[in-house]
Amino acid sequence: MPDGVFLVRFGSIEGRDASMNAGPMLFDRKPLIVRKRKPRINLREEKISTVPVWVRLPGSDLKFWGKSTLMKIGGLVGVPLKLDIATANKELIEYARVLIEVEINGSFMEHIEFLDENGGNVKQEVIFVWKPVTCSMCKGMGHTVDICPNKRVWKQTYVPTAQKVWRPVQPSSKQADVYGNSSILDQ
Ligand SMILES: [Zn+2]
Repeated sequence: MPDGVFLVRFGSIEGRDASMNAGPMLFDRKPLIVRKRKPRINLREEKISTVPVWVRLPGSDLKFWGKSTLMKIGGLVGVPLKLDIATANKELIEYARVLIEVEINGSFMEHIEFLDENGGNVKQEVIFVWKPVTCSMCKGMGHTVDICPNKRVWKQTYVPTAQKVWRPVQPSSKQADVYGNSSILDQ
């Protein structure tokens, strides 16, 4: 089993679906994403490239919008999975919440535009409740390089190179490199 992948058996199909549809949960500040295991798929080779994230669509008009419209609007952001219960029941009027599957390395648009039923252009704000961040150093998910929990590991591995790169350059060293002979500069 590759790092960060756990095989879990659920007691019921309903329990499994509830976990998959809940969106990412944060566990020890790391996102926990539940996926259905595909038979005959090598877990070592399977890369996670998409995550379900809750997206808010603010706007008081949203309370009048039906499920199919909101799912279509969500389709402009990614693959819409479902509405949250308060949105579906129209209990929430400040914003609609849609669970949308997005590319981890994709762009997270702040606005989408579409035509309303009268052909008028509507600009809709999009707020990601949580954005998948990928660490540039360890390629882990849920944190940036500033707070990388694997920092100690990569420091040990990479410091020699980093020191080489960041060593202050002496004014003469560039020329010395070019000529391959530093004594020229002393003459
Ligand atoms: Zn990291």
